[in-house]
Amino acid sequence: MITPNQTLLSFLAVAFSLTLFHSAGAETCVEAGDAETGVSCEHGDGVRAGHGAASEGHDDPARMVHIHRMTCKDGAVARWKPVDRDLVTFKVNDWAGVPLEIALAVRRGVLQWNRVQPFYAMWETAKDEADITIELFDDVLPGIVGATKVKCRNGQEGIRKAYVFMGLRGVGAVEAQNMTAHEIGHAMGLGHSDRSHDLMDARLAEKNIDERTICPSNLDRAGLIAGMHSYSIPEDEWSEMECWGRTSG
Ligand SMILES: [Zn+2]
Repeated sequence: MITPNQTLLSFLAVAFSLTLFHSAGAETCVEAGDAETGVSCEHGDGVRAGHGAASEGHDDPARMVHIHRMTCKDGAVARWKPVDRDLVTFKVNDWAGVPLEIALAVRRGVLQWNRVQPFYAMWETAKDEADITIELFDDVLPGIVGATKVKCRNGQEGIRKAYVFMGLRGVGAVEAQNMTAHEIGHAMGLGHSDRSHDLMDARLAEKNIDERTICPSNLDRAGLIAGMHSYSIPEDEWSEMECWGRTSG
């Protein structure tokens, strides 16, 4: 039985490095130093940390969108194995007692990935051994609205578990959906995109009311299978309208 306090304590253990990570604007794995589980990678998404670094980079003449992948302890790209698996299961632990509308929005954020084919089908389960565990809190930590921890010791073994933490106090349904879709992108091994308004843009964690969708920049299937550490796509190869998963229509 895992209590909210135990979950928060394990999260607190990595929180300081999360803050540093976000401020640096880098995409390398932060090592939690957990001897029992092996090293994990985390992405923390804060409302106050790291915005300065994220808003730079508009001097790229080719307007390339860069997306990095999270890495395992051995430096390999973090991927669920086998890479052609059909399902990744998830469960939601609601420690905050969120309203039904928020609970549904969280599910929509996860299931948005099922509208696109290059990744795995997400399947909700009540079992403890879910691949991805999503922990809903009122608050995670000051300045952090969402974070994802991925357990991946080496590339051969691949990702073994992922944990998503979200603080939903005062968060509306659209924002909860966006936050969830973003964190699930991390849980599948994606790092941040440097394209503004991309689903994997680090600034997504700021307050926003527009529904974000999964774009071609998030869906490099060939790169996923090849285990590429990063990839770049010309920004003008697609428009906002081509983003998949748009649910407002
Ligand atoms: Zn993020």
